[in-house]
Amino acid sequence: NKNSIGFIGLGVMGFPMASNLLHAGKELVVFDINLEQAAQLPFQERVTIADSKEELAKQVDIVLLMLPNSPHVKEAITGDDGLIESLSAGALIIDMSSISSTVTKEINEELEGKNIDMIDAPVSGGQTGAVHGTLTFMVGGKKGNYDQALDLLQIMGGKIIHCGEVGSGQTVKIVNQLMSAVNLVSMSEGFTLGVKGGVDPEIMREVILNGSGKCWALEDRMPVILDRDFDPGFTVDLHTKDISLALEVGKDLQVPLYATSLVHELFKTLQAKGEGGKDNAAVITLYEALAEI
Ligand code: NAD
Repeated sequence: NKNSIGFIGLGVMGFPMASNLLHAGKELVVFDINLEQAAQLPFQERVTIADSKEELAKQVDIVLLMLPNSPHVKEAITGDDGLIESLSAGALIIDMSSISSTVTKEINEELEGKNIDMIDAPVSGGQTGAVHGTLTFMVGGKKGNYDQALDLLQIMGGKIIHCGEVGSGQTVKIVNQLMSAVNLVSMSEGFTLGVKGGVDPEIMREVILNGSGKCWALEDRMPVILDRDFDPGFTVDLHTKDISLALEVGKDLQVPLYATSLVHELFKTLQAKGEGGKDNAAVITLYEALAEI
């Protein structure tokens, strides 16, 4: 029963999430391949900076991960010097990164052989939610592990929802990202047609917010488009990563994803134009260019 908690991945999301745990009085052992951020964490007296995952794993029974994608999580857990080698039996890994549900299940199977538990707990709410501790967590794993993690997750988030067995948190996250991307493209297509047809987009928005076309993109993204301000926000690059995960899992599960495939190509077009760093609302500019608006 070690007091400290392990935290791996102190990037855009991980840094403010770790900071909130420290604000709540927790002790952390942290690791990142780039350790510059670690020295900037608050309450340094309760932070131990580990030089390796092995050093971290020896000091903790719970490890939180906030890494970019499936290969990074796989490497951290089952790769060279991975957590699987050095955590004690009975330890719990909480992976908060957004990665493939299939890869999550594969990693979990390996961990089961060592009696190490894992839950997937990806988030929505972005950097703002991470800073303010208002993230939504989608949790996959045993109910007992969810209960065990709840106190910690509540420090970093507002809503913590148990979605089912291991991998189901990732599945829900992927479904959400797929739906928001398709939704954004559907709105962009409609509005380009409407504007080319001579209608003021503000008026179109007001009407459709009361119609069956009402959707998240219209509520949340259209104001960004009307302001013509495509500074992120949530970037095209990050959304493309999540759409790719949906396509990978669609392949794994043999589920055809027609709309998602098309949307993926549109997002890749923005990346090919060097606009991957823009806000995802910039997808409408592809339509506008073709319609000569
Ligand atoms: P980021 O790239 O800013 O941070 C990742 C951190 O992990 C970096 O500090 C990097 O040095 C470190 N890292 C990479 N590989 C490592 C390894 N093998 N071992 C140790 N450290 C390693 O990414 P982020 O924006 O914080 O996103 C993290 C995850 O959260 C991603 O899966 C992303 O999709 C998801 N997410 C991001 C947002 C957002 O708005 N940024 C919102 C919701 C979910």
